[in-house]
Amino acid sequence: MIEPERIRQLNDAKANERGRYVLYWMQQSQREAHNPALEFAVSEANRHAQPVVVVFVLMEDYPEANERHFAFMLQGLEEVAAALKKRGIAFVTRRGEPVDSVLELARGASTLVCDRGYLRHQRDWRAALSRQARCPVVQVEGDVVVPVDLVSDRAEFAARTIRPKILRIRDQFLRPLARTRLKRPVKSIGIASEFDARKPAATLAALGVDRDVPMVTRFNGGTAEARKHLGRFTRRGLVEYSETRSDPAEPRCSCLSPYLHFGQISAVEAGLKVARTESCSPADREAFLEQLIVRRELSINFVLHTPRYDRFAALPDWARRTLRAHADDERPYRYSLAKLEAANTHDPYWNAAMKEMVKTGYMHNYMRMYWGKKIIEWSPSPEAAYRRILGLNNKYFIDGRDANSYTSVAWLFGLHDRPWTERAVFGTIRYMNAAGLERKFEIQRYVEWVESLEP
Ligand SMILES: Cc1cc2nc3c(=O)[nH]c(=O)nc-3n(C[C@H](O)[C@H](O)[C@H](O)COP(=O)(O)OP(=O)(O)OC[C@H]3O[C@@H](n4cnc5c(N)ncnc54)[C@H](O)[C@@H]3O)c2cc1C
Repeated sequence: MIEPERIRQLNDAKANERGRYVLYWMQQSQREAHNPALEFAVSEANRHAQPVVVVFVLMEDYPEANERHFAFMLQGLEEVAAALKKRGIAFVTRRGEPVDSVLELARGASTLVCDRGYLRHQRDWRAALSRQARCPVVQVEGDVVVPVDLVSDRAEFAARTIRPKILRIRDQFLRPLARTRLKRPVKSIGIASEFDARKPAATLAALGVDRDVPMVTRFNGGTAEARKHLGRFTRRGLVEYSETRSDPAEPRCSCLSPYLHFGQISAVEAGLKVARTESCSPADREAFLEQLIVRRELSINFVLHTPRYDRFAALPDWARRTLRAHADDERPYRYSLAKLEAANTHDPYWNAAMKEMVKTGYMHNYMRMYWGKKIIEWSPSPEAAYRRILGLNNKYFIDGRDANSYTSVAWLFGLHDRPWTERAVFGTIRYMNAAGLERKFEIQRYVEWVESLEP
């Protein structure tokens, strides 16, 4: 069952009597499995005795996307195409700007279903569709565990303020989602596609996308791959996750963030699998659910309720004030962006983190914190540091350009945190240093592991 709280009609239009199919515009939730928007489209289609058409619109100039991101996404879409075909659901691909492409197909639809996205451009697209479509536009929220509007209607102050609001109703929404059988399966719908989702490599080669950052070998996109990571994690990583998740030298984490970013796995599916794993302690399970649900959904709360979530101006007043007061402090090391990107600093731990990011499109959470804090220390001003960190984050991470990206980068500058002891450059925002890494972890092992990665 799809919880009614996930479903919202965005306009007042009545069903288009002349519609031939139910259209689902797949954008945020790029998966066939455990996708409430897709299942909703199937039940609507059954109600109207119609087939389902799923459209995916590939935008070559998608904000900040490069070859690395497109490669991962296309790998996932190959699997979507195969899984939809098995269910008799037509899959149509388009290239270009989403609103026009979706509106064109919506003319033949009785209902238009979309998933929910939280970033500004995602919200703008849905708002434009709901204004312009002549059929009902129904949004189904499938990429969070707890529907965000039920949790809060404002930007939350910190994890401690959102946590009780989420935990109160979390388990109500941590429920499996069954597939609904489609009564009118189709082999083809007679609508031409603009790229062949079954051929990701050929499609990628033909795209006019930014080629600055190549695809990685460490992660392959798609639900099956996401499930492999999840399976490995519940077998091996989850035990002692609560105590060791911070250790970059012996990483215990799930590596699900790239898959969650592209909607290739449902957060509910991942949460359920962990909640049902008995080989670990309740504390381990809860520690993971805290990250997957409370922290991730706090990030979504921030971007949803903060108009300029991607600007320095969105940082808390106290943090901007203290950083400004220390803007002219002596900085013992200063690096250009080029030096940073080349992982060419005096700090071997930081260099290793930057290399992990460039080579693999991922970085351990603790190293992300350290990496960002050092860029604050080594940049000419807090504003420049903010632009550099966010720019590098979104350029190299497969999970970049996510609600988590904007919120976590803002966290480096004091968001959702509290003032600490005052010191140079940082003022009262939290500071981190190499001695902490050495004290807590066998950090040299992390450096060696990064060095062993293929070029
Ligand atoms: C400077 C900085 C930049 C970051 N940039 C990104 C980014 O671009 N994209 C991104 O998805 N995450 C980002 N994070 C948050 C976090 O580091 C990653 O989500 C996490 O490391 C992903 O690895 P994992 O899936 O193996 O995590 P796991 O430990 O297995 O956690 C499972 C899931 O919980 C969520 N989660 C874990 N830690 C956090 C956190 N601190 N805040 C919010 N959600 C969390 C993620 O969705 C993650 O996939 C950033 C953190 C920092 C400090």
